[in-house]
Amino acid sequence: MGLLEGKRGIVFGVANDHSLAWYCAQQMHAQGAQLAFTYQAENLERRLRPLAESVGSTFIRQCDLSKDEEIEKVMGELGKEWDSLDFIVHAVAFANKADLEGHFVDTSREGFRLALDVSAYTLTAVAQKAMPLMKNGGSIVTLTYYGAEKVVPHYNVMGVAKAALEASVQYMAADLGEKGIRVNAISAGPVRTLAAMGIAGFREMLKVVEQKAPLKRNVQAEEVGKTALYLASDLSSGVTGEVIHVDCGYSIMGM
Ligand code: NAP
Repeated sequence: MGLLEGKRGIVFGVANDHSLAWYCAQQMHAQGAQLAFTYQAENLERRLRPLAESVGSTFIRQCDLSKDEEIEKVMGELGKEWDSLDFIVHAVAFANKADLEGHFVDTSREGFRLALDVSAYTLTAVAQKAMPLMKNGGSIVTLTYYGAEKVVPHYNVMGVAKAALEASVQYMAADLGEKGIRVNAISAGPVRTLAAMGIAGFREMLKVVEQKAPLKRNVQAEEVGKTALYLASDLSSGVTGEVIHVDCGYSIMGM
C-alpha cells in the first residue's frame, strides 16, 4: 500500500516537466495520492494538462496566486469535488528579471512588493483559503533556497522573499499545529528549471555546488520530490515548522 493511499493534494507550480512541483507530484502519485493542479495563466494550460492527466488528475484549473479571488474560486470548486484536502505543494516564486542581476540595493519598491507577494505571501493566502478543506489535518510543503540564509550573488530580492517565506513557515506551523496541519519547507539546491534560468549566473551556482558540496554533485529534482513525499506523508508526522535542506550538504560548509 502506498504512503499516500487515500490522500488528496493540490499542487501549485507545475510549469513544465522540469518543474520541482512536477517531481513532487510524480513521487506522490506513485504512492497513491490523488492530485489536483493549477496553472497561472490561460496559455500555460497546454503544458500542464498532459502532465496532470498522465497522473490521473481531472482537476486542472487556472489560478494566479497573487489574486485572492482566484484562490477562493479554486478552493470552492475543489470542495465540490473532494470532501477534504490532505496536502498542499506550494512551489511558486517570481521576481522581475532585472531584480535577479546586479545589486540587491537597487531593488525598486514595486519589484520588492511583487517578489514578496508572489514568492512569500501566496503561501499564507493558500493556507487561509485551504484550511476549511483540511478538516482532518494535513501537510503544507513549500520550496525555498539557501539564498534566504546567506548572500548568494544575483539572488537578491528573491533571497529576501525566501527569508520571509521561511519565517512564514514557522509562524504558520505554530498557528495551524492545533488543527493537525503541519507546515514545512524544502531548501533545494540549484536545479535547472524555468525559474532558475532567470537568475543571472545560475550556471556558476551549479558549478560551485559541484565543487563544494559534501556529495560533490548537484541535487537531482527527484530527490526534492522524495523529500516532499516524506513531508506530505505520515512518515513525517512529528515534523513541523522545519526547513529541510536537500542540497547535497552544500549549506553545512563554512568554506
Ligand atoms: P518553475 O518550474 O519555473 O516553477 C515556478 C512556478 O511558479 C511556475 O509554475 C510559475 O507559473 C509559478 N508562478 C509564478 N508566479 C505565479 C503566480 N502569480 N501564481 C501562480 N503561479 C505562479 O521553477 P522551479 O524551480 O520548479 O520553482 C519552484 C519553486 O522552487 C520556487 O519557489 C523556487 O523558488 C523554488 N526553488 C527552486 C530552485 C531551483 O534551483 N530550481 C532551488 C530552490 C528553490 P508560470 O510558469 O505559469 O508563470
